[in-house]
Amino acid sequence: MKTEEIMQETDEYVLHTYNRFPVVFERGEGVHLYDTDGKEYLDFAAGIAVFGLGYANREYNDALKDQIDHIIHTSNLYYNVPMAEAARKVAESCGMSKVFFTNSGTEAIEGAIKAARKYAWLRDGSSDHEIIAMKHSFHGRSLGALSVTGNTSYQEPFKPLIGGIRFAEFNDLKSVEESISDKTCAIIMETVQGEGGIYPAEKEFLQGVRKLCDEHDILLILDEIQCGMGRTGYLWAWQEFGVKPDIMTCAKALGCGVPVGCFVLNEKAASRSLVPGDHGSTYGGNPLATRAVSTVFDLFAKNHIVEHVKELTPYLEQKLDSLVAGHDFLAARRGKGFMQGLVVSGRPVGEIVSNALQNGLVVISAGSDVIRLVPPLVIEKEDIDEMIRRLEASF
Ligand SMILES: *Cc1c(COP(=O)(O)O)cnc(C)c1O
Repeated sequence: MKTEEIMQETDEYVLHTYNRFPVVFERGEGVHLYDTDGKEYLDFAAGIAVFGLGYANREYNDALKDQIDHIIHTSNLYYNVPMAEAARKVAESCGMSKVFFTNSGTEAIEGAIKAARKYAWLRDGSSDHEIIAMKHSFHGRSLGALSVTGNTSYQEPFKPLIGGIRFAEFNDLKSVEESISDKTCAIIMETVQGEGGIYPAEKEFLQGVRKLCDEHDILLILDEIQCGMGRTGYLWAWQEFGVKPDIMTCAKALGCGVPVGCFVLNEKAASRSLVPGDHGSTYGGNPLATRAVSTVFDLFAKNHIVEHVKELTPYLEQKLDSLVAGHDFLAARRGKGFMQGLVVSGRPVGEIVSNALQNGLVVISAGSDVIRLVPPLVIEKEDIDEMIRRLEASF
């Protein structure tokens, strides 16, 4: 089928919930994508912070093919080999205790909310607990995840949402403190806000929130779906702050392309938690998905992916800072590691993103005014140089 026909067929049969760019990607190789016309693109979006290892990684692909030949799915009624291995690797990587695998980030958030409510319910038997979430946050599109997403335009058509949610200002400890009541069971936030416009948590803020949680027996839920898995130069973004969550959510790069997420509980959260009958998922943690997770952890270690991000971050930041210095309409750079945003003022971001695509550079937007750079974690200096060239040509 020709490119034009594929786009027409998609628009005819797929519900129009995305405004797609007019390109059909057909294959990927390392940090490059190729469309149906054979045109090459440098990818600084990684399928929205997903393809950490880059495309067509031989060992990753071979592991998945091997798993397909063994078994793809068995359900959660039985044990399987990859789930055991993947759960151990996730738990050991963060020093937490129990993992529940999901099929997406949104479902990880749902599970985290249920785990927090169950914890509080077992503690005091009441069923009117509250959760504090942050303004400009993003946690997903299901009704529960949407209820803790601090973006009213996403929420409005779908009300009523789940009750008992209060919104506080991100990086404003006082606003969090004022939102706490004796009903608060959890505080949920992204360690680095992604969709909202790439806002990293400040260290004092995160440490302050942790302290408030400890004082009031509130569970801290850190959403590491976008900023986790090495993206900030730490395997988990919170590791930079010396603060540990009680519940963590992860997805996106967790399977590097296979749909999989998880929520992870520390010992305290797991001690009063979900039991058989409380929660489940037919696909959740199936052998194919968890083989991907297990392989990703192996390849991250073998290829020193997190160290690589940390090492190359100053170079990326320096290049982006020069770009900001050289263009009046670029107001600032924000971000950590390979999760960076360029704040655009007085020009539509969509136009720049669209131009970039024409110039063979895949970048995405965040919030209303930010160019978001979330490349595969395996980019090298040359790729950064090339990205700067193609981006500048798109201004
Ligand atoms: C993408 C994202 C989600 C939702 O994950 P899905 O896999 O799209 O359901 C939740 N939280 C954050 C921080 C995200 O970036």
